[in-house]
Amino acid sequence: MKNYFREIPKVDKILEDEKIKLIIEKYSRKVVLDIISEITEKLRNKISIYLKSEKEIDELEKEIEISITNLITDIIYNVEALFEPNLKRVINATGTILHTNLGRALINKDIAYRLADIVSGYSNLEYNLKEGKRGERYDSFSNLICKITGAQAALAVNNNAAAVMLILNTLAKDGEVIVSRGELVEIGGKFRVPDVLRASGARLVEVGTTNKTHLSDYENAINENTKAILKVHTSNYNIIGFTENVSIASIKKNLPNTLVIEDLGSGVLVDLEKYGLKHEPTVMESINAGVDIVCFSGDKLFGGPQAGIIIGKKEYIDKIKKNQLTRAFRIDKFTVAALELVLMEYLKGDKVEESIPVLRMIKESYESVSKRAKVLFEKLKLADKNNNLILNLLDLKSQIGGGSLPGELISSRGISIKFKNISTSKAEEKLRNLNIPIIVRIVEDTILLDIRTVNSDDFDIIANSFGGLT
Ligand SMILES: *Cc1c(COP(=O)(O)O)cnc(C)c1O
Repeated sequence: MKNYFREIPKVDKILEDEKIKLIIEKYSRKVVLDIISEITEKLRNKISIYLKSEKEIDELEKEIEISITNLITDIIYNVEALFEPNLKRVINATGTILHTNLGRALINKDIAYRLADIVSGYSNLEYNLKEGKRGERYDSFSNLICKITGAQAALAVNNNAAAVMLILNTLAKDGEVIVSRGELVEIGGKFRVPDVLRASGARLVEVGTTNKTHLSDYENAINENTKAILKVHTSNYNIIGFTENVSIASIKKNLPNTLVIEDLGSGVLVDLEKYGLKHEPTVMESINAGVDIVCFSGDKLFGGPQAGIIIGKKEYIDKIKKNQLTRAFRIDKFTVAALELVLMEYLKGDKVEESIPVLRMIKESYESVSKRAKVLFEKLKLADKNNNLILNLLDLKSQIGGGSLPGELISSRGISIKFKNISTSKAEEKLRNLNIPIIVRIVEDTILLDIRTVNSDDFDIIANSFGGLT
C-alpha cells in the first residue's frame, strides 16, 4: 500500500504556486490558508481510512489520487465559491412576468447604469441645489408622479404594505375604518387587510357580503367614530357571477365628507386593455374618481423598484409625512433615483412600453415571441453536440403574476425539452445550480421554456448550458 501522506504537498509549497499567489492577492491570505487546511484535512482523513483498511480499496485509492492531482484547482474553486454572492441574476424561463420569488419587476439596463453612478457617489438626496439649502428626498419624484397622474401630492415608502399601514396609522388610528367583506383579502406573505388594519391602530368595521356590497351598507355603517372607508383592489383573485361593488366615484358623490382611501395593489399607469388583457383599474382612474389617498406597489405593474407609492390630496399627504413611521419606512437614495428615472420614462407616453421591461414583456406579440423561440430552438439544436436533447416548439400561456390580473393569460411560445441522458428532475436541479441559474417550468415531466420572459441576449447562455448538461 502506498503512503499517500507523503504525496500531499506542504503548505509552504502550495503557497508558492503561482495560481495560489494570485488568489491570495485577489481575496485574502487568511481565507486561502483556511481552505487549504480544510481540504488537506479531508484528504488526510481519506488516506487514514485507506491505510487502515485490510484490503486494497481501488475506488478510494483512485479518489485520493484525483484529489492530490486536483489539489490546487480544488483550493481555488473553494475560495472562489466563498466570494460568489448568494443573490445573483437568474434567467426566468417560467413565463411569469412578475415572479415574486424571482425579484418581481425588472429595471431596464440604462436606468441601472444611472443608478450605479448615483449610489456610488454623493448626491443631492436631501439638498436643494437651486437654493443651496436642505431639500426633500421626495421632491423630484413627487413632481413627476403628480404631473403624470394628476394627484396633488405624493410620497413613497419601503413597500406597499408599509404604505397601507402608514396611511391608516396617520388618518384612522383609534377610529373606525369601513371595509367591504368582498375586499378583506390576503395578498400573500401574511399580508391580510384585517391584520394590517388592526396593527395600524384602527378598528375594522366590515360591511356587505363576500359577493355584494351596496352603497347603503357604507351609509349605514358611518357614525361619529368613522375615520375612513378603505377600498382594496382585489388584485389576486376574481369574484364572478352575482356580484356588486361600490365605486369610489359613487362613494365620493354620496358621502362627500367621508375620507376614502384605496389600496390599489399593482398600480398600473397605462391601459392594459389595448394588449387584450382585462381592464385593470389605473391610478389615474382612482384620482379622477376623487379618492383622497391611494397607494400601490412600485415593483408590480408600475415596473419600478420595490416601493409603496402614496399619492392623493395634499392635506393628507402632509399629515402622513409628519408621522414618525414615515421615517421608519423611508426609501433610500437607490429607490428615490430609480423612481424618478422610471417616471421619466412614463412622461414620454407610449414609448414607455419599450423601456419598462414589465410592460415590454406584456406587450410583446405572439409572433415576436414565436420568432425568438425559433432562434433559441436552432441554437439549442446546434449546442446539443452529444444529441442528448429532445426538443419541440410549442404554444404556451404566460401569466402576469405578482398577484396581478389573476386568470389573465397571454398567448406565448416556447420550447419543451427532455433529456436522453438524465431525468427531468435531475436536469431541473442542475439548471437551478448553474453559475447563471435557469429557472424553468416542469409540466408532465418535461421542461418548458417560455420565451416571453427570456431576453434574447441570454439565448447563447441557455443553449450552451443545456448543451453541456450531463
Ligand atoms: C401586492 C399588494 C400589497 C403589498 O404590496 P408590497 O409592495 O408587496 O408590500 C398590498 N395590497 C395589495 C392590494 C396588493 O396587491
